[in-house]
Amino acid sequence: MPPLTLAQATKKIEAYTDCYHRRTGTQLNSVPGVKEAVIGGLAHNLAELNRPLCPCNFYPDKVAELRHRRWLCPCDEMQIYKYCHCMLYVGENNLPITEHLPPQHEGRQMYGLNPDPHPELGRPRRGQTSPGMEEWYAEK
Ligand code: SF4
Repeated sequence: MPPLTLAQATKKIEAYTDCYHRRTGTQLNSVPGVKEAVIGGLAHNLAELNRPLCPCNFYPDKVAELRHRRWLCPCDEMQIYKYCHCMLYVGENNLPITEHLPPQHEGRQMYGLNPDPHPELGRPRRGQTSPGMEEWYAEK
C-alpha cells in the first residue's frame, strides 16, 4: 500500500480517535489545542512510519521503536490501565485516568488518583503486564 499523505493520515487518526474514545468511555481532551496537537503528531508518525507511534515521547530511533509495539496507539498503558500520558483520552476535568495505574507509576505521582468514569469499558488487556513498558521505564 502506498504511504498516506499527511491529510489522509490526519483523517484516519481523527476517525479512529473519535471511535476509540467512545469505546473506552473516555473523552477527547477539550483544552484548546491539546487534541489537535496529539492527533497531528499521531498523523505525522502514521504518514512517516505507516504506524501510529505515540508522539509524546522521544525515541532515539523511531523505526527501532516500532518493533516493540508498546507505544503504538493505543499503547500498552492505555490498553492495560486506560492511562493516556499524552492527555488525549481523558476523564473528568481533562485529566488522565490514573485509577488503574500501580501506585508507584509516575502518572499517579504526577496527577494523583483520577477515577475512571466508565470502568466497564475499554482495557482489553486489563490484568496483564507489559514487559516492553517495564523495559522502557527502566531505561529512562
Ligand atoms: S499515550 Fe498512548 S493512548 Fe495516548 S496518544 Fe500516546 S499512544 Fe495513544
